[in-house]
Amino acid sequence: MAMNQDAIIKKMRDIENKLITYSEAYYKHNRPLVSDGEYDRLFDSLVELEKQYPELKNPLSPTVKVQSDLDSFLTEAEHTVPVLSLDKAYSVDEIMAFVNRCKKEASNKISFTLEEKIDGLSIVLYYSKGILRRALTRGNGHVGNDVTVSALRIKDIPHKLIKEIDIAVRGEVYITKKSFEKINSTLEEPYSSSRNLASGLLRRIDKSNLSTPLDLDIFIYEGWAEDINNIREHQDMLLFLKELGFRINPNYTVFSSDGSSLPSISEIDKYIKIKTEQRSSLDYDIDGLVLKLNNFNDRESMGYTEHHPRWAIAYKFESPMGKSRVLQITLGVGRTGRITPVAILDKVELLGASITKATLHNSDYINALELAIGDEVSISRRGDVIPAIEDVVEKNNLGNTTYKLGEFCPSCGTKLITKGANLFCPNSECPDRVKGEIEYFVSKDCMDIEGVGPSVVNDLINCKAIKSYDDLYYVDYNSVLSTLAGYKERKITAIINAVNKSKDQPFIRVLTSIGIEGVGLSTSEKLINGGITSFDRLFEIADNNEVEFLTSINEIGESTALNIIRTFSSSVIRNRIERLRAAGLNMMTDKDSEVLLNNSLNGQSWCVTGSISGYKNPDLAMEEIKKRGGRVVSGVSKKTTHLLVGSAPGSKLQKALSFGTTIIKDSEFSQFLENADKQGGIE
Ligand code: NAD
Repeated sequence: MAMNQDAIIKKMRDIENKLITYSEAYYKHNRPLVSDGEYDRLFDSLVELEKQYPELKNPLSPTVKVQSDLDSFLTEAEHTVPVLSLDKAYSVDEIMAFVNRCKKEASNKISFTLEEKIDGLSIVLYYSKGILRRALTRGNGHVGNDVTVSALRIKDIPHKLIKEIDIAVRGEVYITKKSFEKINSTLEEPYSSSRNLASGLLRRIDKSNLSTPLDLDIFIYEGWAEDINNIREHQDMLLFLKELGFRINPNYTVFSSDGSSLPSISEIDKYIKIKTEQRSSLDYDIDGLVLKLNNFNDRESMGYTEHHPRWAIAYKFESPMGKSRVLQITLGVGRTGRITPVAILDKVELLGASITKATLHNSDYINALELAIGDEVSISRRGDVIPAIEDVVEKNNLGNTTYKLGEFCPSCGTKLITKGANLFCPNSECPDRVKGEIEYFVSKDCMDIEGVGPSVVNDLINCKAIKSYDDLYYVDYNSVLSTLAGYKERKITAIINAVNKSKDQPFIRVLTSIGIEGVGLSTSEKLINGGITSFDRLFEIADNNEVEFLTSINEIGESTALNIIRTFSSSVIRNRIERLRAAGLNMMTDKDSEVLLNNSLNGQSWCVTGSISGYKNPDLAMEEIKKRGGRVVSGVSKKTTHLLVGSAPGSKLQKALSFGTTIIKDSEFSQFLENADKQGGIE
């Protein structure tokens, strides 16, 4: 008996530990180790054990409290309203059991709302006198992370309400499917769900640019205020919130009864079927439905656990699953050297697609599944798209144990290094890395060299015509390719034309194509908007180790800044860029093509501080200086001739005063430019 109990205790603690590890990866790093379905099954198995053996239940079990999503890098603040999770149901019977519980405890005439369960993350917005004062994540239910700076950049979060009211509202922040695909496709390590990307974006605090909207949306679904006691039904609250200026999801249904009839099984069943079908046509992800008691008095009589309100229940959609067998696990080497294990599967049809492989991400993911070659596995398509191994259904009988990633690069044999949860090949000349770099360089979002895809790149590498992307502009395609099978004259001419055409690609594309870790098209755009318009400037930044300047640019974090500096400190990269230049690549920015108005500010070195009245952002004022031949620098030094000062100037003003730099106030700037233009160069 004692033995048995020990085994049960061990099992319970093991599950608790797993749930805690998975929650950490999910909430804090937005990189889940297992699917939501797998997490939920494990959670439910613990709930079952706790019901069976209440005396063995850990008072701090993950089933008791809301799992914390607090991130220690962000500031915290206390919630003044309850911010809990939801109880879950997986069948109509379980929903009906909930309805019956409500019927017993609540008033005679009960009604429910049935809403979409948006697959995003919870946020609570606190307004005082109608002004948004603070936005907090759910956190541990009592304390949340302060994400006000990000919330202010979500276009549907009103900064000011139409009434001067003190109110707290709760809603779900999410990213549309379209934006998810667009952003995810630029990332080397894509997120496995829209929820994880949305969470990553919301938690990236960037105080430097409040005016750029974040690609996030929100639906508000709850509100608390002192002076709205007349609102006693959830439905009315939703209407009130809408009137105040909040975005409410209109896709909800109300079920009501006069006391004799409840929402029936068939009604709920029908609605679940309709919603399950509609799910793929919505432009945002939903992972279920939420049934809530409508009346606030009824809600109060039902009460709360520490984990969830007793007056609501979430029905989670089932993901369609297939079964397959892991035939092999292969290791891919990405352009940054990251090793990605991929399961090769026995072909299985799921949601209209044939699935033959699924990414296994990294060794943590494999260990969490305890996956071995030969195992029978269940397969889903996350977000109805990305194939994923959800679970091991049956272990193999070949004696294979959990798959271990080797210590050496499968492509070049170099010893791998560990960064976070991933393994990397550190050899920059690793053939697979080089191939990945060149494939990336020619790809659609980069230099967009039509007709030069992975197989042409492979052929060019195999016949030693290219070793890196710059070589693409030095190949004698006629003599190299005409000897290979499958290359007719027309195809070769098309390749030559596409390569030549790509020489006109603007700077933003060339910068992206270099393949700096973390720098896709949108980051390149931010760098350019931050005033970096040439590779020479990037060389200068690397030489002077200008981390601070880079991080002062909107949304450029320290790790991207360090990657940029590392990349442009490399003589190999500099040499490649020089070869691109010598091959005749234009590398023009749109701004380069602007006409130089005159040379009136030639020889002057300007710095700009504070926000400049008359200009939406300081970059535009900088453009005016450059158009007149002036140089714009990021910091004040003895050599700086002029400082343009707007409101809220930083320490640059003190420095400029100490150097005797000419100070131009923003109110004087347009007159200054006018005079300069008139005098045609003589100040
Ligand atoms: P949950 O996300 O399943 O449900 C509660 C949440 O639903 C609320 O916090 C709220 O943010 C959201 N919601 C969306 N629409 C809503 C609406 N209309 N009304 C009310 N709430 C709405 O539960 P949770 O506690 O936030 O997270 C637990 C879940 O997270 C698990 O069930 C699992 O699916 C997932 N998870 C996954 C992993 C993993 O490793 N894959 C780890 C931890 C948690």
